[in-house]
Amino acid sequence: MSTSGQDVWVYVEHLKGEVLGHTYELLGKGREVAGALGGRLVAVLAGSAVQPLASTLGVADSVLCIEDAGLAEFTPEGHGAVLRALAEKDPPRLMLFGATSAGMDLAALTSATMGIPLVVNCKEIGIEDDRVVVTSQMCGGKLLGEVETGGNMVALTVLPGAFPSQKGLSDRAPTVQNLPSPVPLEGVRTRVTRLLEPEAGDVDITRAPVLIAVGRGIQRQDNLPLAEELAGLLGGAVCASRPVIDQGWLPLTRQVGKSGMVVKPKFYLALGISGASEHVEGMKDSELTIAVNSDPRAPIFDVADYGVAADMFDVLPILTEELRARKPSAP
Ligand SMILES: Cc1cc2nc3c(=O)[nH]c(=O)nc-3n(C[C@H](O)[C@H](O)[C@H](O)COP(=O)(O)OP(=O)(O)OC[C@H]3O[C@@H](n4cnc5c(N)ncnc54)[C@H](O)[C@@H]3O)c2cc1C
Repeated sequence: MSTSGQDVWVYVEHLKGEVLGHTYELLGKGREVAGALGGRLVAVLAGSAVQPLASTLGVADSVLCIEDAGLAEFTPEGHGAVLRALAEKDPPRLMLFGATSAGMDLAALTSATMGIPLVVNCKEIGIEDDRVVVTSQMCGGKLLGEVETGGNMVALTVLPGAFPSQKGLSDRAPTVQNLPSPVPLEGVRTRVTRLLEPEAGDVDITRAPVLIAVGRGIQRQDNLPLAEELAGLLGGAVCASRPVIDQGWLPLTRQVGKSGMVVKPKFYLALGISGASEHVEGMKDSELTIAVNSDPRAPIFDVADYGVAADMFDVLPILTEELRARKPSAP
């Protein structure tokens, strides 16, 4: 292992035998940053029976693969203890985590227990004269801050989608170092009791190219089929703001926003959604957003590419009818 102190570590997130996509985004950017710092890119892969995943991490100079039954489930406590022990032995300059539920937990814990700075929600990472300068998103994306970190070890959480994943993919076989856990894990008190996933047969809204999003303006559960028909015609899915989910009209897996999913569809149609910052946080990177709201001052119009100040129940039937008429009928 390097002792230069300029290495960049990427914590590899994986689930059900697959490395999660944003890890490749971190690896791609990490490759560039490690080059600028004159250090090496190291992927830290911790879990149980995860060794086969190492072959997909060829962009890294090396993979630290730590296998232990106690790491089978992700717990910040267990994975954090391992990461800390490794980093204390051979301190990197940067530790990159996804700004995901797991990454945020782990980065915060690592920062607190190791006493190192943490910059969250990073969108850009640059090296200027050996200084690490990062752009961090704040207040749900309303503000961007430029943060300069000192010369010592720093943890960063990086927003999924901030960097392309292609640069993190390589056919090269990485150098893999298989290590036992550097700390005993029997005493870990945190247990995973349940993994919340889209219900079987339910759509994964983070992958849908078109999203028809409904807010409190939908008024009643009986009105949801109007949105569902439109979604069907556009090959998309229905998602919602929190009040709709809180009513139990759609499952939690359809919620967009701070406490729901972050989506980046090609097209996001917001119907009867006010545009509270907690909602916007989850959809602001949609490629094209059209908002329909009866209140012309609704904040959703500030983030929409096009806005229709009208009653959604006037707009929806016209739109559906138009699309139905244009759709070629089945032979
Ligand atoms: C910690 C925290 C986390 C949160 N997480 C989330 C989250 O993940 N996702 C989320 O969405 N919210 C979240 N919220 C809630 C958020 O603050 C808002 O309360 C919520 O987004 C509002 O939902 P809404 O826009 O559907 O409802 P409202 O704010 O009530 O807006 C309804 C809108 O519909 C319009 N409208 C009404 N009738 C019609 C009609 N017939 N035609 C057209 N327009 C009409 C109104 O003009 C209004 O703008 C969170 C809040 C907190 C405090």
